[in-house]
This record gives sequence, C-alpha cells and structure tokens, in this order.
Amino acid sequence: MSSDIRVRFCPSPTGNPHVGMVRTALFNWAFARHNKATFVFRIEDTDTARDSEDSYNQLLDSLKWLGLTWDEGPEVGGPYGPYRQSERMDLYREVVEKLLAANFAYRCFCSVEELEEQREIQKKAGTTPGYSGRCRDLSDAEQEAFREQGRKPAIRFRMPGIDLTWDDLVRGELSFAKEHVPDFVIVRATGEPLYTLVNPVDDALMHITHVLRGEDLLSSTPRQIAMHNALAQIGVGSGRLPFFGHLPYVMGEGNRKLSKRDPESALLMYREEGFLPEGLLNYLALLGWSMGDDQEFFSIQEMAERFDIKRVSGNPARFDLKKCTAINGDWIRSLTPEDLSGRLIPFLVKDNLLPEIPNQTQQDLVRRATPLVQERMETLRQGAAMLGFLFFQDAGVQDEATSGTRPFEIEASELSQITPEAKSILTFALDALSKLDDWNHGAIEALLRAELLEKHGFKPKNAFGPIRLATAGRRVSPPLFESLELLGKARSLHRIESALNV
Ligand code: GLU
Repeated sequence: MSSDIRVRFCPSPTGNPHVGMVRTALFNWAFARHNKATFVFRIEDTDTARDSEDSYNQLLDSLKWLGLTWDEGPEVGGPYGPYRQSERMDLYREVVEKLLAANFAYRCFCSVEELEEQREIQKKAGTTPGYSGRCRDLSDAEQEAFREQGRKPAIRFRMPGIDLTWDDLVRGELSFAKEHVPDFVIVRATGEPLYTLVNPVDDALMHITHVLRGEDLLSSTPRQIAMHNALAQIGVGSGRLPFFGHLPYVMGEGNRKLSKRDPESALLMYREEGFLPEGLLNYLALLGWSMGDDQEFFSIQEMAERFDIKRVSGNPARFDLKKCTAINGDWIRSLTPEDLSGRLIPFLVKDNLLPEIPNQTQQDLVRRATPLVQERMETLRQGAAMLGFLFFQDAGVQDEATSGTRPFEIEASELSQITPEAKSILTFALDALSKLDDWNHGAIEALLRAELLEKHGFKPKNAFGPIRLATAGRRVSPPLFESLELLGKARSLHRIESALNV
C-alpha cells in the first residue's frame, strides 16, 4: 500500500447478499486499487436479532467468488482488528463512557410511549418531528429519580445545533439544517450499541479516509459528521473527518428501487445460473460509473486502472437483467475454450450429468464440445444443459463418457414432435448411418444430406430436427453433425432406434 487512503466495505450479515451490496463493494475495491489504498472489509454484526452466521459465511464466500480481495478484515486480520463488530463491544463501551464524560452524549429516560406522545404533539403543532430534548440536561438527582421508577436509560448523542454541510464526492455540496437532525440514540436501554454509534466509531478507529456507500445512507451522514467531530475532540481515532461519497440508487422494474426481495437482486441466483464473476462485475460497474468512452466491456482490473470517483453519476442507475445477461455472454465468448470447459464441469456435476470427479474421457469430451456451444450460451447453466446429452446413460451401450447417473430421455414436452414423418426420417437416417465407418462430422453431414435431402427430398429444416431431438433429447443443442461425432456411433444409433419406439 503506498497511500494513506483507506476505504471500507461494511455490510451487515442479514439475509442473502444482494447486487446493490456487491456494487458498493466493487466501487470501494476499484477506488482502493486505483489509489494503491487499503480496502478494509468489516462486518457490522451488532444486531443479534437479525444477524446470522450463515449470512456472514455467504458474504465472505461471495467476495471470494467475485475476486474482490480485501487487505484487512476477517480471515486476513490487520492492525485495527477485530473486524467483526460483535467482537468489539468493549471498545464501544469505552467510547460511550468518554462521550458521556465529555457531554457529547447523555442518558435518556423517555419511554417508548412518551416518545410517541412527543411525536403526536409535534405532528399536531406542525413542527419538525424529532426528539424534544427532554432529557438533554437532567441533573444527577433527576436521573436518580427516573432510575428509582425502574427506568433504564438509552444513550443519546447530543447534536451540536448547527447546520451540517459536506462536499459529497459524488453529489457535490450537501447540507442538512439543524432542525432536521435531532439528537439520536446510540445505545439502547438494553445496552445494545447501534449502527449510529459503531459505524462512525469504527470508521474513526480504523482510520477510514473515504466512505463510499449507497444513497440510502445519505441521511445518516450529518449525524456521522457530528459524531466524528466529537470523537476527534475526545481523542478517539484518527481525528480526521472522512470524505463521503454516495453512490446512486439502483432501480428495478417499474422505476422502483431494486429491493432485496426482487429475485434479480439475489447474488446467489447469478452464481447458480452460471454467471461469470467477470461478467456480473462488469455489468455492476456500469451502474453509476462509465469508462468515459462508451466502452462497456472491461475487466475490473481495467476498471480499477481508470476508476475516478468524479465519473460516478448522481443519477439513479437502472438494473437491466437482459443487459447483464448479454454482457455475461460476451464474457463467455471471450474465454479460451479450455478455461470455459473448466467452468462448465461443475455445472454438469451439479445437474448430475457428470460424477463428482469426471474421468478423463468425460473431461476430454467437455473440452472438445465446448467450442460448439460457446457462441450459443449466455450462462454456464445454459451451456451445461446443451452438453448434457453427451453424458446420459444409454441402456445396454457401454461408453466411458456415460456418467451412470441419469438415463437418456427426450424432453417430455418435445415427444409430440416425433410424428410419423419424423419416424420415417429417423428410419432412413438409421439405415444410412449404420453403414458409415468413418464417423466424423464431415462424413456424417455428407451422408445425411445425400440420403435425406437429395434422395428422399426432405427440406433441411424437417430432416434434421427429428435427428437432433432423437440424439440430444432437446431442441437447443450444439450443431447436429458435430454432436453426432462426439456422441459416437453406437450411442447415436441406439438413440435414433429408441426414438422410433416412442
Ligand atoms: N452496515 C451498513 C449497511 O449494511 C453499512 C452502511 C455504511 O456503509 O455506512 O447498510
């Protein structure tokens, strides 16, 4: 690291990782790499009711899958650890004591009902809602009296009573009037510290210099600025206010904000469908940022080289699954067949088309078949589905490629395509192919064309469809003649023959 710049990605481990989160991680990562800075990964797990270990593991797993490496954080450690907030409770208690002692915070004894009453009064009077300030200046005796009533205090931060302004890295100068940012709770009456405390405290303690995060957190920034100023005065952290930059909203269908609940926001979905990390990240980079020369296809390393926070737009970005998928297709086409076949194998395994550890014949077959599907797929899952026919079992036919896990069958929805005309085509094809000794795609093609088109006068569209269906079991498959070559003579003939009996 050759600069003092430090950024952080600090998700809360609740629910499944989503694309909005990944976009934030990516922009922080690119900013860090561009500036030879430090990328800190911190887990904000202070909400025991909502956080889960599963979600924590998924977060780590997701960043690793995406290749967004962190310099400090879980598993790698660092000078400002621990990096899980649940392990930092003693630090927060200490800071709270200091804030109380310096009068930057105070104990608030108001009950939920009383706060509700205050809100009602403000509503009726038409004044800005917010904490009334009732407990701001309680004497020791008044506090004691409340305690005697059995009340347990929450801890509130005392806002400085000034308008707060900052120069947002994305949105320019922003200002919040003092009336709109009332005193806020930092520790619940139960003793539980809140995001309002632990997030800026850790940013200060971890010497974070730039906070890049989603626009949904904009309203917490004036509070955090006030908190940083207080922390600087009591000697907690670096004493320097971080720069703030708010990344634009990501919109989903119908001009609504993309929500965690939208299926296209679930990161896991992309992994399961066979998006490449490169493709997904390339698309997410475009949500609010651009290379500046209309270039839309780039790696995150190229993004990092060119990343300039000034090029982040303040306008909402629209999430478009079609475009995301198309970019993934571009990435798939850019891989070497060797690389692509390696990525397809786990998908074939997952679909029970290959055993956990494929044998050499099976691996070779995937490698040979990959170039045939590379142009025809946008996701690895689609590719695996197209290659599946090579590995199904054919009763009574011995073949090293057969995975032994799933018997071959024609997709049920396609069975009606095996019409009497289709059967006569299959009969002619079977007859001709069984006499072919030199089993390669050129010879297969020449033979089938001569037999079906020239001799029997079928149109190509009608002639080859049934053979594809009989041998691949589905309509979308790699090119027919190459497929038959890869499948081998025995299995091809066996399948055509079986189709005659459906
Ligand atoms: N834990 C917060 C969240 O996940 C972090 C927000 C921030 O970046 O300040 O929303």
